[in-house]
Amino acid sequence: MSDCLFCRIVSREIPSDIVYEDELVIAFNDINPQAPVHMLVIPKKHIPTIADLEDADRDLFGHIHMVIKDLARQEGIDEKGYRVVVNCRESAGQSVFHVHFHLLGGRSLGWPPG
Ligand code: AMP
Ligand code: ZN
Repeated sequence: MSDCLFCRIVSREIPSDIVYEDELVIAFNDINPQAPVHMLVIPKKHIPTIADLEDADRDLFGHIHMVIKDLARQEGIDEKGYRVVVNCRESAGQSVFHVHFHLLGGRSLGWPPG
């Protein structure tokens, strides 16, 4: 998907502050952080929204959660706590249509979200 911002980050056509990478996923710092720790964990595979997941994606999404857990520990936010957010489509405010998990932490986070 050459017109997808996050695919272009995966392919290094657009620079980003990559924190983690393996064969299936990358994680990079959000360009407009909303908390002291705010990174995005994405599958390298282009999937527009979590509503587009297929059965074949089960292992990939389990893996993403393990990566998030490890990154939270690495960032030192696992003991106090953190939030994982996926915005899906228009009402949730999704702005980039390549699935991404926001990992937010390092401060108290309000609830409910806006
Ligand atoms: P969402 O609104 O859930 O689709 O989140 C998209 C996120 O991508 C926002 O938090 C943006 O700040 C972030 N973002 C947009 N462009 C970039 C970029 N080039 N590098 C890193 N993060 C980005
Ligand atoms: Zn994409």
